[in-house]
Amino acid sequence: MTQPALDLVIAALETIREKTDRAPRASTTVLARLQGARAAAARPLALRTAHATPKAFGAVESAVPSGDPGSRNKAELLAVVRDRVRACTKCAHLACSRTQTVFGVGNPDADLMFVGEAPGVDEDQQGEPFVGRAGQLLTRILKAMNFAREDVYIANILKCRPDTSPGTFGNRPPTPTEMQTCRPYLVEQIEIIQPTVLVALGAVAVEGLLGMRATMRELRGRWHTCNGIPLMITYHPAYLLRNQAPSEKRKVWEDMLQVLERLERPISDRQRNYFL
Ligand code: SF4
Repeated sequence: MTQPALDLVIAALETIREKTDRAPRASTTVLARLQGARAAAARPLALRTAHATPKAFGAVESAVPSGDPGSRNKAELLAVVRDRVRACTKCAHLACSRTQTVFGVGNPDADLMFVGEAPGVDEDQQGEPFVGRAGQLLTRILKAMNFAREDVYIANILKCRPDTSPGTFGNRPPTPTEMQTCRPYLVEQIEIIQPTVLVALGAVAVEGLLGMRATMRELRGRWHTCNGIPLMITYHPAYLLRNQAPSEKRKVWEDMLQVLERLERPISDRQRNYFL
């Protein structure tokens, strides 16, 4: 496909995505082909020729990330979305106030994907989600589940830190409009990664993912579905920092035990009895 034709297809898909609640659906294979065609069209002629020349193959191959082909494709697809997010100014006020966008981090081929609400001040400065105190607690929860942080994928509904008035401290939750505007990027991340299980951390993440508003007491601990993927809802780690009662930690842990069961991961007696 030529570059102008490809640009037309991508522009049409982006228009559909922005005008409807549901993102246009395409399989990962089709997306990979589209992105591959765009990359090939954009590649300088010399490089394209080198690809076709056996002697020069090694030089071109070394520029391609290693790893299994499936996750390499996913990493490349995510990189394309990351570039679009980096340049995004759809929320002009956030584009002005952010230090940088915070796209997401982790294994592009993860079975387990966590979704939070929006970057806070630490995330805005470091460009990575969940790096503050709440993020450190999430890393500890993952460790208790026998996951390293690099095993899973972590992202937020919003890719820019919600702005706050000058002189004020802390973070503010994203508005429904901000979430609606940014959500398509998250949907793309989910469709590329195709995790076996999604976990929504907190009521704002639930509202962004499912458009549902309810108390966490009503929402958490039960399975929902998002884009055809099982979704577990649990408290945001920041809630556990505010409320350190063992009973609340146990609730989150019970939700994570359900996640482990859904992933068919082994669960030890010690894990079953955590916080009891
Ligand atoms: S929050 Fe999302 S949609 Fe809004 S400017 Fe940032 S990246 Fe773009």
